[in-house]
Amino acid sequence: RAKDDGRDRCALYDAAMQIDAQSRREAEHKVRRALRTNGLRVLWQPIVDLRDDDRLVAAEALVRIDDPVEGTLEPGTFVDTAEDTGLIVDVDTWVLGEVLRQLREWRGKGSGIQVSFNVSGKTLEHPAFAHRLAHSVESTGASGASLLAEVTERTLIDLSTTTRASLGELRSIGARVGLDDFGTGYSSLAYLDRFPLSFLKIDMSFVRDLGRSDRADAVVEALIGLAHAHGMVVTAEGVETRLQAETLRRMGCDRAQGWLFGRPMTATKLPVRYS
Ligand code: C2E
Ligand code: MG
Ligand code: MG
Ligand code: MG
Repeated sequence: RAKDDGRDRCALYDAAMQIDAQSRREAEHKVRRALRTNGLRVLWQPIVDLRDDDRLVAAEALVRIDDPVEGTLEPGTFVDTAEDTGLIVDVDTWVLGEVLRQLREWRGKGSGIQVSFNVSGKTLEHPAFAHRLAHSVESTGASGASLLAEVTERTLIDLSTTTRASLGELRSIGARVGLDDFGTGYSSLAYLDRFPLSFLKIDMSFVRDLGRSDRADAVVEALIGLAHAHGMVVTAEGVETRLQAETLRRMGCDRAQGWLFGRPMTATKLPVRYS
């Protein structure tokens, strides 16, 4: 009996592994096809200044796949596979092209908005990425100082010579490098000193209970103090309620992003102001 149970569990486990491998192969296929057929798209999520009446100061580029069969695919369904297969380098490169194009358009119309983009550790391992970025910023006269590059804790933990050089190149064209999803990984303070970071984004898991839990409030207030002590601008992610926003404002958090201020949207829907 016990033996049979064991065998059943093994069979179930094998089946689950196969489904997993299968769905990864499908995800890989979808990313490859999207890269080949111009099937990637960028949506923009507003980032507001909590110290200035929730004024729109930046927008984060979030990638999507326009799948011919399934419609819009969110990054949660393909980014992991893209990282495992190395396809993320091409995805990030495509997104960056979009980011620079959009930035030029907004600049041309007189907006001072900043643009934030996610860059995988795998991508920073390719010396060509930062190089090309620097080149296209210089050759197009785009403003490097308007770029916010978001990296993950993992990137700083694994920091290689190549990655350090890539990040250094971003900084040399005036781009700011910051840490995304702070608090979800190792949350060790040790690596915050490994590279000069300009901003820190507090993960939404810390934001959820703000204003309702003394514990959550204490943790976030400490994170904001820590970031400010390091000279970093703090952005809170996943802000969905007025209570969360007001609590963050009271704590001196600089910026906020979340459904309360706007979901990821097309560039034309973003309420950009032109002077
Ligand atoms: P992220 O960089 O932390 O982006 C924030 C995610 O939280 C986005 O999910 C956004 O839609 C979602 N979000 C924003 N506000 C709220 C809110 O108030 N409530 C809730 N529940 N969710 C909110 P999305 O667009 O699905 O992206 C997921 C992740 O995929 C991103 O997390 C980022 O790590 C990755 N990603 C997206 N675009 C790119 C890209 O171009 N390159 C790379 N390497 N990764 C990307
Ligand atoms: Mg999403
Ligand atoms: Mg991000
Ligand atoms: Mg994040």
